[in-house]
Order: sequence, then C-alpha cells, then structure tokens
Amino acid sequence: MTDSTGLSRRELLARFGAAAATAFSAGAGALPAAEVGRWDMSTDVLVAGSGAAGASAAIEARRAGAEVLLIEALPRFGGSSAMSAGVVYAGGGTALQRALGVEDSVEQMFRFIAGAGGKHPPLEKIRLYCEQSSAHFDWLVAQGVPYREELALAMTVPMAGESLYFSGCELAWPARELATPAPRGHVPVAAGMTGGRVLMEALLAQVTALGVVMRSGVEGRRLVVANDGRALGMQVSVAGESRTIRARRGIVLASGGFIHNREMVRNYAPELYDCAVPWGNVGDQGMGINMGIGAGAAALRMHQGFAIVPLYPPESVLAGIVVNASGQRFIAEDTYYGMLGDAIAYHQQGRAWLLTDHGNELPAWQDNFLPVAQANTIGDLADQLGFPKGALQNTVAYYNRYAGNGEDPLFHKRAALLRPVQGPPYRAWDLAVDKSFVPAHTFGGLHTGPDGEVINSFGEPIAGLFAAGRTSAGLPGAPYIASGLSVGDATFFGRRAGLAAAGQGGAAV
Ligand SMILES: Cc1cc2nc3c(=O)[nH]c(=O)nc-3n(C[C@H](O)[C@H](O)[C@H](O)COP(=O)(O)OP(=O)(O)OC[C@H]3O[C@@H](n4cnc5c(N)ncnc54)[C@H](O)[C@@H]3O)c2cc1C
Repeated sequence: MTDSTGLSRRELLARFGAAAATAFSAGAGALPAAEVGRWDMSTDVLVAGSGAAGASAAIEARRAGAEVLLIEALPRFGGSSAMSAGVVYAGGGTALQRALGVEDSVEQMFRFIAGAGGKHPPLEKIRLYCEQSSAHFDWLVAQGVPYREELALAMTVPMAGESLYFSGCELAWPARELATPAPRGHVPVAAGMTGGRVLMEALLAQVTALGVVMRSGVEGRRLVVANDGRALGMQVSVAGESRTIRARRGIVLASGGFIHNREMVRNYAPELYDCAVPWGNVGDQGMGINMGIGAGAAALRMHQGFAIVPLYPPESVLAGIVVNASGQRFIAEDTYYGMLGDAIAYHQQGRAWLLTDHGNELPAWQDNFLPVAQANTIGDLADQLGFPKGALQNTVAYYNRYAGNGEDPLFHKRAALLRPVQGPPYRAWDLAVDKSFVPAHTFGGLHTGPDGEVINSFGEPIAGLFAAGRTSAGLPGAPYIASGLSVGDATFFGRRAGLAAAGQGGAAV
C-alpha cells in the first residue's frame, strides 16, 4: 500500500522511522506544533514550489520586506511554467495591445472570462484580474519578460516571435456574441514554444537578485499547525530526512496541480484520467493541495481540468465536421481546442471523430490523430464507424444544405470555414481522448480568497496559509476558454498571495 507521497508504508518506515510513517499515513492531516521539538530552519515567508505562482509570490513577499525561503521538490526550478508556452491572458488595453492598435476594455475582457466558461465562475477574482490586467502586464515587462510589438493572426501559439494573438475561443460562437473579441494572448519573444522558459528565466532572475533563499530537492510534506489551526510551518523531506521549517509570517503553497498523481486524478477527475498525455512536470503530484486539505482547507472544482484536442494547425481542417458516437455535431468546429477537448472529454464520453472530404485532408505532419475509416459514401463511412442507421447521413445533409450559403444554424461556424462536405474519399479521424494526442492537466485546488488566503470548509480563512497557481482553484476552469489563463492567474494571484503572506494583503498589485 502506498500513501499520497507514492511511498509504501515499508519505504516510509525504512526512511523516516515508525513515528514518521505514522505521521505520513493517510488521514494524519497536519502535524501539531506541540510535536515539533525544535525547528530546523526559520524564515518570514515560506513558498513551496518554484513555478510562475511561487516565483511571483517570492518576488512580492521579498519586496514587501520579508525574509523569504523558496523550496522546490525537484532538482530544477521552474515547474510546468518553464515547460509552457508562457502565454499570459491579459487585456483591457495593455501596453502591447495599445501599441498594436488593438481595442479592448476591462468590461469586454470581464464579460468574456465570466461568461464563456463554466457555470458560477469566481466573479470577484475575475473582476480583479481584469481591472489590474494592464498593470500586471507592465509588471511582467518590468521583471524583464520580453515582448515584441507584432500581432499574429493564426489560432496557434505564434512561432515567429510575435507576441499577441487570439489565444482562446473569442471569435467562435457563442463567445463572440458575449463580448467584443480582442487578441489577449501575450507571448514572450521566444523560439518556438519556449516562451515559458523565457518567462521563468526572467522571474527566477528577479528571485535570485532580490536575495530570496532558494533550495531545490526540498519537498513539503505536512503543514505544522498551532492548536487554533494557524499554519506555523512545514515538515519537509530533504534527501529522505525529515526537517521542519518555521514561517513567522506566512506560507504560500504554490506546488502546481496533480496530473501526475494518477490515483488522485482517477478519484477526483476521472474524465482527465483517460486523456492520453498527462501534461505537466513530474512535480504535479498534488502535494500542495494535500497539505492544505490536511490542515483543514476546502478544495474546489477538483474534477475540472484542461483537455485539449489540437485539431489545428492547419486551420483549413476546421472546414470538416466533428461528430459524436451518434453521428451528430455538438460544437462549432472552429472553436479553441481547449473547448473542443472539454466537450469531448466531459460531455461525449471521451469519443469523437473528425470527418473530412477530399478537399481538407489532415496533412501528414499533423499526426495527432489517425484515420480510422475511409469510404466513398457517407453511408459506408457511418457503417464502418458503427453509427446508428442514417444518423451521419442526416447530419451531413443538414450541414451541407446551409454550409453552401455560408450558414451554420446549429453552431454558427465562421463563414470562412463553412463549405459542404462533399467529394470522396471521406475519412474519419479518431479524436478519442485515450487514443490520440490529447494532453490534460488539472485545475481544481484549494479554496482561496482574492489574496490567496486559504479557506476552510466553514468558509473561514486559515491563518498564515496562502495558495496560488494550480494548487488553488483559480480563474481557469472547465471548459478552458483561452490559453494564458493558467500562467496569467498563477503570476497575478501568486503576487497577491506573496504580498498577503508578508503581511500586506489587499494591496493592488
Ligand atoms: C507544455 C505545456 C504548455 C503550456 N502552455 C501554457 C501557456 O502557454 N499558458 C498557460 O496559461 N498555461 C500553459 N500551460 C499550463 C501551465 O504551464 C501551468 O498550469 C502553470 O504553469 C502552473 O503554474 P504553477 O506555478 O501553479 O505550477 P508549476 O509551474 O508546475 O510549479 C509548481 C512547482 O512546485 C513544485 N512542487 C510540487 N510539490 C512540491 C512540494 N511538495 N514541495 C515543494 N515543491 C513542490 C513542482 O515541482 C513545481 O516545480 C502549459 C502546460 C504545459 C505542460
């Protein structure tokens, strides 16, 4: 039997002795301060995790005058943030948008984020994020993150050094009717998809320059709590040895999500469990979330996450139609691939097919999906796929009747991508989440307020405890409406959590 650390009880006993094995067993929760004889280290603010959230928290806590210790479980700093494309969703008239003549407003950005995603989004956080988005972008620039004044028109992360693009479903129906579309994906100048590395190099350089003490190979295991529930410190593992760290002012849990803790994913987010590619660094073990829960925190939206079905590039493929196991369309094909992935993973039992004709084959280099059926008639194709009799024929006939006139009464696909599906060979490409290239990661996490204060199941803040990034339930949810909301949320709310942990909560960042 293993616990959430992935270690068997026997391994725990061998490493830490019987007392530690008892403390680390499921249900042990937090470590009572009375059991800590002597603290091994102390600091004002302890940050666990060195990704975008942790680095941003450390920078702000240090600038607020706190002594800061940043610990990282892995040998390397940067987390999933450094693996990412570094897209930050920003708007409301950022300096980059203005330089490129893009019109945007806080209100339109708010309407998009609040309205295009799932039910009951965290409106207070979205409002703050939108109101301060332009200033937050300036902050990223001030930390040394480079951007170039160039706009990309394609739907994918720009590869030629452009720094602004439509990173979400803004142009697709129904989002385009909710809010005036504006490009809000801000991408650091980088070769290919390495924007996250560039962003993290800049943030970590600031962390170092400010004199934050950084320790890799130090894994947080349990929070140490006082009798009144206040978080006082953390029990950590250093090369297999148990140590304790006292945090005089506050602790920021910034330890990423849990996509690589397969047991947690199966239990909390079963729709993501089947997705073929766990997407994130191996530190995504849910330890920050579990530490918080162990100290009494509530966790929210633990089933939600990001599952992308990357149909494009090329965008011409979106002229085909996507159907479910009943042979019916269920979404505008030209939407953001996070919306498509969500629809398939959460609402179509993980199964769907792209149907193409001779005019819009997937090119050989687009090998995310395989053709699983080919025929000269739609009926034969449907038979091969085992669809209900006549269903696909009806779907294609209905779609074709309007597509020729540039109309899509069901899902309002953009006219530029509308044309009848006609002309064999017809092919069906498998979009099943477990058989194709479908990356997934988690969005659920600790319940936090706007300053990152961790909240318990009675709705009360846990004194001394803060969380940010994917350890918290933040702006990104299911469906995921735009690239950049995760790193954007991690940097923005990471900053607020760092300030609050240092004792300056509530300040505008
Ligand atoms: C290939 C790829 C591309 C992506 N592109 C984008 C994008 O362009 N824009 C976007 O918004 N999102 C993107 N994402 C998602 C995004 O990268 C993450 O959701 C985000 O970076 C999470 O930031 P974080 O600070 O919460 O966590 P992380 O960056 O993962 O940092 C958490 C750190 O905590 C460490 N840690 C874990 N447990 C402990 C512990 N117990 N003690 C100490 N340290 C611990 C981890 O090792 C890790 O280093 C992408 C993801 C991937 C994989």
